[in-house]
Amino acid sequence: MAKVAKQAKEGKTTKTTKRRKTVAIDVYKAWCKGCGICVAFCPKGVLAQDEEGHAYAKNLEACIACMQCELRCPDFAITVITEDRLNAGKGGSAHG
Ligand code: SF4
Ligand code: SF4
Repeated sequence: MAKVAKQAKEGKTTKTTKRRKTVAIDVYKAWCKGCGICVAFCPKGVLAQDEEGHAYAKNLEACIACMQCELRCPDFAITVITEDRLNAGKGGSAHG
């Protein structure tokens, strides 16, 4: 009995909360037409547009990796690079 209690105390029953961490937001400028859709859909105000209209992450720390920007971009110009993706070998720019 004492052993079971010890195991529980050692964290065997600990619930792990998985939060994806965003490492970077990659915008392929050649494909970004500056429509601002990603900026509008980002729920955390992470994105902004530069003077040429291209999207960029102005507040990366706030990103919750919801992927809305990537999913909504009509030109596949924006990629959310998370730790998960990097670990899975799918990180980095999809555009070379
Ligand atoms: S939705 Fe895509 S094309 Fe439009 S501003 Fe964002 S990255 Fe650029
Ligand atoms: S993944 Fe979500 S929170 Fe992060 S920049 Fe894209 S829309 Fe915003």
